Amino acid sequence: MTENVLVTRGLTKRYGSYAAVDHVDITVPKGEIYGLVGRNGAGKTTIIRMVASQTIASEGEIELFGMTEERELRAARSRTGAMVEIPSFYPYLTARENLEYYRRQRGVAGAHVVEDALQQVGLADTGKKKFKAFSLGMKQRLGLALALMNRPDLLLLDEPINGLDPEGIVDFRNLLLELNRQYQTTILISSHILSELQNLATCYGFIDKGRMLEQLSAAELAEKCRDCLELRVGDAPRAAAILERELGYHDFEVLPSGVIRLYEGLGEPERITRLLVEQGISLAGMEHRGANLEDYFLNLIGGVHHG
Ligand code: ATP
Repeated sequence: MTENVLVTRGLTKRYGSYAAVDHVDITVPKGEIYGLVGRNGAGKTTIIRMVASQTIASEGEIELFGMTEERELRAARSRTGAMVEIPSFYPYLTARENLEYYRRQRGVAGAHVVEDALQQVGLADTGKKKFKAFSLGMKQRLGLALALMNRPDLLLLDEPINGLDPEGIVDFRNLLLELNRQYQTTILISSHILSELQNLATCYGFIDKGRMLEQLSAAELAEKCRDCLELRVGDAPRAAAILERELGYHDFEVLPSGVIRLYEGLGEPERITRLLVEQGISLAGMEHRGANLEDYFLNLIGGVHHG
């Protein structure tokens, strides 16, 4: 059976009568990199803050490493590391000095943890360079090092890629992949740009206006973003039945909007058009759609309507 590191059930956060997070169910299996995707203000930060116990949930349950009771949860939280924003590091201290300060403040045992964390994020050679002279990528890495100091089994990262340049994004992504591979660290990472999480996340949760719209694996998402012909027809169920009966197509889906997504016969648009017209189906449009994750996300949240 799959072991889940984090499960939320009906997780809700209200500010007055406004629900910033509204009955959200999240399941993060062990060893996965879970991408939490949503526009700015969707509720991602609030979810991560609740899991990290930086803010209290109004309603719902959090299960961490199988624990749900408040006392057990406290122990379970010691197995997590969170980076919700870049922590306030001292500008005139080096990477090492900053981490050492937090190590003492947090009572983390063993001076070597600082060195280990710096090694892990590739900042071990920054020597006397002061934090104020760090690039944004280096600052993000130091924030990550701080979250890694207690060797967490679950890493919670809120928009860590935000603001990085393309090279910085690739570096940070590789760093997380390495952590995941080498230490089996489970990662929950949020972003408002789905493509930033591509080649990284192994499963996704899409949230909008505080609600979970869909949770699916990377493989399922790739499947949904496969190349297809999108047919806008007058009577989709009947058209689908005709395609199945006359052309032997089985690999399609009929969307609630009346669009048929056809994943086979991509090279035969004329034949399909002729058949549907012959059978008296009105065809308002046919479009070859390529794999585009961003489009999928926007369609899901209703931000963009095609056609
Ligand atoms: P962003 O990436 O912009 O931070 P987000 O998806 O992380 O977006 P949240 O920061 O979780 O979104 O915010 C969700 C909603 O809750 C927003 O509408 C925000 O204005 C509101 N909100 C967050 N914190 C508070 C607060 N302390 N008091 C009132 N409203 C808040």
